[in-house]
Amino acid sequence: MDFEYSPEVQSLQQRLDAFMERYVVPYNGAWHQSVAQGIYPPPFLEDLKVLAQAEGLWNLFLPSLHDDEPGKRLSNLDYAPLAEIMGRLPWASEVFNCSAPDTGNMELLHLFATPEQNQTWLQPLLKGEIRSAFAMSEPDVASSDPTNLQTCVRRTGDELVLNGRKWFITGAAHPRCKLLIVMCRSGEPTDDKHAQHSMLLVPMDTPGVTLVRNISIMQHHAPEGHCEIVFSDVRLPLSNLLGQEGAGFAMAQARLGPGRIHHCMRTIGQCELALSLMCERTLERHAFGKYLADFANVQEWIAESRLEIDQARLLVLRAAWRLDQGLAQVNAQSRSDVSAIKVVAARLQTSVVNRAMQVFGAMGLSPDTPLAYFWTWGRALHLLDGPDEVHLRTVARHELDLTREVRGSTAAYFTLPEQLQAEPRIR
Ligand SMILES: Cc1cc2nc3c(=O)[nH]c(=O)nc-3n(C[C@H](O)[C@H](O)[C@H](O)COP(=O)(O)OP(=O)(O)OC[C@H]3O[C@@H](n4cnc5c(N)ncnc54)[C@H](O)[C@@H]3O)c2cc1C
Repeated sequence: MDFEYSPEVQSLQQRLDAFMERYVVPYNGAWHQSVAQGIYPPPFLEDLKVLAQAEGLWNLFLPSLHDDEPGKRLSNLDYAPLAEIMGRLPWASEVFNCSAPDTGNMELLHLFATPEQNQTWLQPLLKGEIRSAFAMSEPDVASSDPTNLQTCVRRTGDELVLNGRKWFITGAAHPRCKLLIVMCRSGEPTDDKHAQHSMLLVPMDTPGVTLVRNISIMQHHAPEGHCEIVFSDVRLPLSNLLGQEGAGFAMAQARLGPGRIHHCMRTIGQCELALSLMCERTLERHAFGKYLADFANVQEWIAESRLEIDQARLLVLRAAWRLDQGLAQVNAQSRSDVSAIKVVAARLQTSVVNRAMQVFGAMGLSPDTPLAYFWTWGRALHLLDGPDEVHLRTVARHELDLTREVRGSTAAYFTLPEQLQAEPRIR
């Protein structure tokens, strides 16, 4: 088994790394300062985007781009190490037009948009001219089970009328967010419960769309937002329906496969950085007559972190590779893999970053290092794109389905003496 990245990917890794070091990381302080002053996105972001595009470091995520669409056409597997590099700095993905939730939304539009929808929304997204958000979760129902969703759309003449409330909608507060892809109820309760929902393309400036608030995540106020949004009699032409009416679930599967795994790839990058920060700190901090690096428990934290990161990376790569073999919605194994890595990545981020914060002492909880934010994001990962419990259920169900297919195959491994096997177990 060859674990090397292809020569093309190695070359892209080097170029992306160099670009990050030379142009992006030096702006990190300025980015935070600008956001603290309420200037978002910072003016230099556009310059960086132009530069990245000129360097061919643009739309690195979408495998099936057409010839006239800008980007590298990389497979999910090839994209993984690049997302890891961009992930080290949470705002960096935007420089390369690889941000969540746009990547998932572009995948979705690529698969299901009509030619007109493609021109209006996908092309500006691919060029990085606009941003987008994906609106599924609702305050009034358990949104980990999307069959509960209540926001509804009704046909009235030649219009669609949308009513409801969504929350935690990432990216909706970005000044360039022009499009919401809204998952909503379109069918009757008597329909198949997985055929009652549709997706709508809702321009952000449509009358009746109100951004109520940007919700902080554990006291971290993201400038791009995790927003609560109300839709009151939002009127849209029929042409704003994305894909088939009632096909919302099937389309969500297509979107969430790659979108979810991109988060996991970025997690690996953030955990690598946390581990590097932790190691450096242990080599310089001195207590009770030795460096922190000399304490056995600290060495164990470093080693455990290395083991966990490497295990998670391999799982990410396998999940990416399986996604490349076929769409998640037609491949149960692939769906299980994506669920597995989603849980592993969240655990990884909270455990590795937690150790790093402990090594940094009080400073680890302050905004002076990236660790507190990384941990907060790790905590959010246990919920966003579906809670861990739901993903574990997916993995377990797949495992049980596999077992049902070969039911009884373990019988020969029992060591019970033959004569006892024949005896009734209960007298
Ligand atoms: C930072 C952040 C960003 C987000 N971004 C978006 C976004 O852009 N768009 C969007 O639509 N949503 C977004 N969300 C919302 C997220 O997808 C939901 O929070 C998630 O799906 C869970 O839904 P819920 O909050 O309604 O929890 P609920 O559905 O109420 O679940 C609560 C808890 O119940 C338990 N539970 C649920 N199902 C099971 C089960 N089958 N087995 C065992 N236990 C179970 C779990 O412990 C779960 O945590 C975001 C959330 C966060 C924190």
